[in-house]
Amino acid sequence: MKEFDYVIIGGGCAGLSLAYELEINDKLINKSLAIIEPREEYKRDKTWSFWKVFDHNFEDCVIKSWNNFTINTKENSKELTNKDFPYQSIDSGKFYDKIHSKLARNSNINFYENLNDINSENSIIFNSVFEGDLNKSNLWQHFQGIEIETTKDVFNEEIMNLMDFNCEQRNQVHFFYTLPFRKNRALIETTWLSDFKDRSFMDYDQQLESYIKINLGIKNYNLKFKEKGAIPLFYPAKIKDGLVINIGSAGGMTRLSTGYTFLNIQEHSKYITNNIDIIKKVKKFNIGKKYEFLDKIFLRVLKNNPEKMPDIFFKMFQCSPDTVIKFLSNKSNMFDDLKIISKMPKLIFLKALFKS
Ligand SMILES: Cc1cc2nc3c(=O)[nH]c(=O)nc-3n(C[C@H](O)[C@H](O)[C@H](O)COP(=O)(O)OP(=O)(O)OC[C@H]3O[C@@H](n4cnc5c(N)ncnc54)[C@H](O)[C@@H]3O)c2cc1C
Repeated sequence: MKEFDYVIIGGGCAGLSLAYELEINDKLINKSLAIIEPREEYKRDKTWSFWKVFDHNFEDCVIKSWNNFTINTKENSKELTNKDFPYQSIDSGKFYDKIHSKLARNSNINFYENLNDINSENSIIFNSVFEGDLNKSNLWQHFQGIEIETTKDVFNEEIMNLMDFNCEQRNQVHFFYTLPFRKNRALIETTWLSDFKDRSFMDYDQQLESYIKINLGIKNYNLKFKEKGAIPLFYPAKIKDGLVINIGSAGGMTRLSTGYTFLNIQEHSKYITNNIDIIKKVKKFNIGKKYEFLDKIFLRVLKNNPEKMPDIFFKMFQCSPDTVIKFLSNKSNMFDDLKIISKMPKLIFLKALFKS
């Protein structure tokens, strides 16, 4: 069986981002790479959105950027401007196409369906696949989004809605968001932060239909794309690095308080590429112990006080948008952190802190 210098298990966002980063930095000229991926076809399956806090390789896959956004609760509404850090959405179909056409030009890179198809005994292995089942009683961010086309121009394409809590909460944290790509086209998502066992929250089709008709007042539209997902808001019990280097969601690249993962994956890919010759010896990459600690407290507050969360998120945005965006994108300094903390209700956060 064929041997490879590097093996990437899982050719999804993290696996392909890493392969691309290695390739464009000429790290695969004299080295071989096997990507293990069972899926039969690549097509748009996700829309990755994030605050662009640093440059990335996929600007040409961005469907839309926004410099203005709103956040709504039942009582309040706020419009904010984010000129320095645009909010971007990437079409995963474009991302897959771009990477595949680049990788196809290097014969040192091969795709396989199964790890058993190759000899990986002496390879450096990067893994993006979770081991075993994840605990469904823990907190998850689960959601469904649909991209719709309306018969009339109804959206303001300059302003995206980041969070709209003006909806049924069912004693959980529930919000919608709307990304208007054009005046007559938008991605609308229903998002829950709850356990992943209770199926009563998963009537996503009805939630979306009622939100679009009642809240957005849109009667006629065509469905163009649908996506569904569940992101664990906890790290897998053992992210065991050493023999293999875990990447992507399985490698702890999800920011637990937000579910944002895409840009962390890009940063991790750059870190691995810069250190590829000494990768087993360098410090393991993480998105910041500070954020792990703060998110743990934040999620504890969220789990125990779901009814307070709309107000808490709203209050957070009383800080300048740049401060909040840097905080949510793990790029805040101590002063930013203190500004955010100062907006939080003290008692419930202190209680959560002492419980940890
Ligand atoms: C619908 C959806 C929308 C999301 N939106 C956002 C967003 O807007 N912003 C953001 O920052 N994050 C978002 N995320 C979270 C995160 O960015 C994505 O989940 C991202 O795809 C994670 O990358 P990954 O490589 O870890 O996992 P994946 O992209 O899921 O890649 C894992 C790959 O492993 C393959 N695989 C599975 N089993 C095996 C096996 N046994 N052997 C080998 N390969 C296997 C899969 O086919 C897949 O291709 C979203 C997630 C989902 C599901």
